[in-house]
Order: sequence, then structure tokens, then C-alpha cells
Amino acid sequence: MSSEPLIFELSSPGRRAFDLPALDVPEATLPGALRRGRAPELPEVSQLDLVRHFTHLSQRNMGIDTNFYPLGSCTMKYNPKVNEDVAALPGFANLHPYQSGDTVQGALEVMFELERWLAEISGMDAISLQPTAGSQGELTALFVCRAYHEKKGRRPRKVLVPDSSHGTNPASAALCGYEVETVKSDDKGHVDLEDLKARLSPDVACLMMTNPNTVGVFEKDVRAIAAMLHAVDAQLYYDGANLNAICGLARPGDMGCDMMHFNLHKTFSTPHGGGGPGAGPIGVKEHLRPFLPVPRVEKDASGYHLKEEGFPESIGRVRCFYGNFGLLLRGLVYMRALGGDGLPEVARGAVLNANYLLALLKDRFEAPYGDRCMHEFVLSASRQKRENGVSALDFAKRLLDFGYHAPTVYFPLIVPEALMVEPTETESKETLDAFAEVLRGIAREAVETPELLRQAPVNTVVGRLDEGKAARQPNLRWTPCPPPPA
Ligand SMILES: *Cc1c(COP(=O)(O)O)cnc(C)c1O
Repeated sequence: MSSEPLIFELSSPGRRAFDLPALDVPEATLPGALRRGRAPELPEVSQLDLVRHFTHLSQRNMGIDTNFYPLGSCTMKYNPKVNEDVAALPGFANLHPYQSGDTVQGALEVMFELERWLAEISGMDAISLQPTAGSQGELTALFVCRAYHEKKGRRPRKVLVPDSSHGTNPASAALCGYEVETVKSDDKGHVDLEDLKARLSPDVACLMMTNPNTVGVFEKDVRAIAAMLHAVDAQLYYDGANLNAICGLARPGDMGCDMMHFNLHKTFSTPHGGGGPGAGPIGVKEHLRPFLPVPRVEKDASGYHLKEEGFPESIGRVRCFYGNFGLLLRGLVYMRALGGDGLPEVARGAVLNANYLLALLKDRFEAPYGDRCMHEFVLSASRQKRENGVSALDFAKRLLDFGYHAPTVYFPLIVPEALMVEPTETESKETLDAFAEVLRGIAREAVETPELLRQAPVNTVVGRLDEGKAARQPNLRWTPCPPPPA
């Protein structure tokens, strides 16, 4: 890079900002016909204009630091800045994955300690930090499950998933080579035990279960479910995406679950969105430990080590290096900042906030699973759809006009016109009150001016998109700003 600041040269008359020095490349290497005759026409802007451009772009971005983000299932909590402060310390930020073990003892200690925190929180016996998303954790744990059965000379073909399950569950099972079979939910939103019983056989490898589940209710019969599965030597998988509701209060390991994933970017407040980066460690009970991925963090008298050898039954690596270290670190900072007393407070706060919001909204929408929930709840806009021709999508779009991120819509699949709201514990009562008032107002609009909802959003930079067309004919080209209105 040249030492001269190119952008400031704009003010020196007669010179282009980006006049590049002539390349001193011999003709033989770069034939004349391929050489540029003149400097590239790069856009010329002053630093101030550039700063304004990117600042405005960043302000158009919807994120948890700017707006309430009640996206159900995703647990969009605030990311405390202390996490970032610690992750920015040069000793962590400048690590290189090829450094030798004796120069990264601190980082290994972080990983070792995080494993112990996760084991204690979950009641699991062994942890792997490698997977970098909940979904990758699912796949990893299913590989572990398959290795467990194979060691016993068994090849069960099926994975069961409740009909309320997150789409990644059946996707992971299919990717792992299993047939997916759906178990019904009863009218309270619980796994239907009769239906489960009818599907159990030695051909079942495991049941993947979320608790509290995706309709926001706690599966009370989880111990009985575990016993039913174990009777046919199937495993119980705990999808830990909703751990925020029970963290520090109840442990999947104590409920009889054999394996699980954590979403550090949900429960433990590390950043997520836009597809990553994430962290989806897995936890397993003792009988599954031999199959965990390598390398593993171990400690002996001489310090911490990343061990790759000596695990003949391991499923191997699932990720280059050791996972998303920066996120693992942030997760540990969060846990240590809150401690053993703070984490259950988080869970209680999350459940309280969700119930408070549900109480403010339940008279405006159908609430198919009653007026109590865990950390999130599902409303249905079925009545509005039927009576006013207004859908869950229209509600979601209209919320954007008021500066709110929409709740999750059309999931879980078993609720028609679903609006799935998860406020998280990090939101104040004032924020919840304001959001409820807006959503109640929109419910009024649905009756009085339904056409307005069908056109929404009308106040955003981009209006309603033709999503079908965007998927089939994506226009990914950069286009210059349109000329100002005459
Ligand atoms: C978010 C989520 C997942 C998948 O986790 P990712 O980290 O997004 O891959 C799985 N199950 C449930 C219930 C979830 O909410």
C-alpha cells in the first residue's frame, strides 16, 4: 500500500484520486494487448462522503443494538459489551491456529473451562466445542449416535422428530443417512406419548426433542420418554436451542437425555444473525464419550493439550481447527459474568418476559397453547386471515413500519398463520409495553384498514418484495443510486 492517503488527493487539482503508478511488468509476462490503456474508473468520493455512506448503511441495518428483535426460536438477546472487550484483547484476538500448544495455554484453558461450565449446566459428562452452529452440533451428535449403535453391531434406520421440531432436526437426520419419522403433538403441544409408543422399535436410533419445545411448552414427561427410548436402546437427543428457558434451573442430563447441542449464540449471548458465525458445542453422556470428535482439550501436570491421538472410536474432525474460538470465549465471559446465581435469573427473566407479553396480546390473537408459556409463545393470526384476509406475513411486514423486527412467522408448522414471539430477558418492561401497544394497534388496523397491512411495509427503505421472484430471478448486480427527484 502506498504511504500517501489517496482519498485526500482529490483536492489536488488535475490529478485523479486513483491514478495508479505504471506497473513495471515485463512485456513477456503481461502482453500489451491485455494491459490497461488507462487507469480504472473507480468511483471517486471524499472520505466524508464515504463515512456518511457506510454510516447510513449501518443505520439501515436492523440489529439487536438498534431495535427490539422478538424472533421466536432464535433467542436474540443483547450481546454484553464486556464480551467484546475480552475478545478484543490482543492475546486472544491475534491468536493463530497453527501456534504451538505452549504459546496458547490461555486459550486452551478457556476451552477447558468452558467445557466444564457446559457440562455442569447441562448435566452431561463430556463436551466437544467444535461444531459452529446448532445445526452442525445436531449432525455431529447424530454421527456420535450412529457410531454408538454401530459399535454394538446395530444399524437402526430411523430418527424420530416431533411435528413441532425445528427444520434442522429432520435435515440433520437425513444428512446423517437416517429416515425421518414424525411424531404427533397432542392438543397441549406436548409429544403425544401414544403416538411415540406406536413408532418405537429396535429400528429407531433416536428421538430429537426440544425442551421447552418450539411451541413454548415444557415437556413434562421427558423422563418417561427417555425410559421408553432406552427400552429399545434408542437415544434421546436434546435440542438445546431453548436452553435459555431452563438454564441453571433444570438439566437435560438429569432428565434422561443422552446427547445434546448448545447454541452459544442463543443461550449465552454471543452474536448471531446473517448465518453466523455461531457456536454449537455438543454434550454427551459417558457412554457416548469415546465417539466425540477430535482434537480434545486435556489437562495434565504439564498444562493444557489439544490431543488428536488415542481416541480410536472418535468420529474424527467435523471442523477445521477448534470451532469458532472467539465465540467460545464470549460465551465463557458471559457465563462467568453472571455466575451460578445469575444464570437461573436469566432463565426466570426470559420466562417472565414472555408470559408478560403473552398476557398483553392474548385477547387480540388466538393463542392455541393457552395463556402460560416458557420463554416464548406462539400466536395465530388465523382469525384475522379468515375474517379480514390479513395473514401472519402482513402482521410481520407492518411491524417493520414501526421499527420492530418481526417475530418468526409460519413456524412451528403445526400452527396455521403462526406468529412466534420470543422477547428474551434482556428487554425492559417499557420495551415490551411499547411493542404490545403497537401489535395491538396493528390488530385493530387488520379489522379497520386491512388493505394497509397487505401493502406494508410503507415506511421502510425497501417496500414489500416479491419473494418468489427474488428467489427465482435474483438480481445481484450493483446499481448506482438513482438520480434525485426533479
Ligand atoms: C436455532 C435452532 C436450531 C439450529 O441452530 P443454528 O445454530 O441456527 O444452526 C435448532 N433447533 C432449534 C429449536 C432452534 O431454535
